[in-house]
Amino acid sequence: MECKILDGKKVASEVRERIAVMVKEIRESGKVPPGLAVVLVGDNPASKVYVGQKEKACKEVGFESFLYHLPEATTQEELLNLVGQLNEDPNVHGILVQLPLPKHLNETEVIEAIRPEKDVDGFHPMNLGKLVAGLPCTVPCTPKGIMHLLEYYGIEIEGKNAVVVGRSNIVGKPVAHLLLQKNATVTICHSRTRNLEDITKEADILVVAAGKPHFVTQHMVKKGAVVVDVGINRLESGLVGDVDFDGVRLRASWITPVPGGVGPMTIAMLLENTLEMYERFS
Ligand code: NAP
Repeated sequence: MECKILDGKKVASEVRERIAVMVKEIRESGKVPPGLAVVLVGDNPASKVYVGQKEKACKEVGFESFLYHLPEATTQEELLNLVGQLNEDPNVHGILVQLPLPKHLNETEVIEAIRPEKDVDGFHPMNLGKLVAGLPCTVPCTPKGIMHLLEYYGIEIEGKNAVVVGRSNIVGKPVAHLLLQKNATVTICHSRTRNLEDITKEADILVVAAGKPHFVTQHMVKKGAVVVDVGINRLESGLVGDVDFDGVRLRASWITPVPGGVGPMTIAMLLENTLEMYERFS
């Protein structure tokens, strides 16, 4: 059985093209274009790369992009003041504060300060709560991108055993809830899970977001499983996922590559969320 690729790069580029056409129409009609504010505090190298990618993607589809690069020594009060200003700015439809923040800052307080209607990452407890309750909300970009990718390739979810490795608020928990909403039977695993391998081997759909390079190997995967690798790990040899791609592809029916899988989908969904927020505002 040949393992097929869930090609996030291709699907994301289709999403971006569609958004670019819509933004062109908005601009041609003389309306204010969608605007995304990105706040970066400090000089974390990975964060700088992510912010650069997000800015570039915004410009490519015709959004206004407002970058606030603040020094590492920024105080909580200064950051909260900026978020307060952006909350009131009519040209800003989405606000993204790049995580992680420097250790002296309180991330929870900053996320809670963003107006839920502008919380483009969907990390505000109001949005996460609505997600769990199955109510309309802004869905975090990475989980949304995963669901989009599965849907695009016609992967059946209903009634399937879905296993999510990782329980972060930004990936593991929301993606588990989205799979549950699509009627999968969902198991969430984490660092205290016992006999992880016995559980992952039962997965028809396996989503891995553990932040550990090549953590999931061939013997942990059921034959024919759909494997979604969320991990982005920077090794000297380059970017690798949480899944041992070369081994696991010998057993899986579908797999996401790293890079070119979930990563591009995350950025495409950030654009989609910004546009959705803009449409709700106007
Ligand atoms: P995180 O907050 O560090 O969470 C990692 C999760 O993995 C935790 O729930 C942890 O369990 C669990 N875990 C750690 N070791 C484990 C083990 N041995 N067995 C089972 N579970 C284990 O990470 P995250 O923010 O969710 O990100 C996960 C990965 O995805 C990272 O590589 C990150 O860079 C990547 N990522 C990629 C994208 C993208 O766009 N592609 C977006 C976001 C994140 P505990 O809760 O018990 O500690």
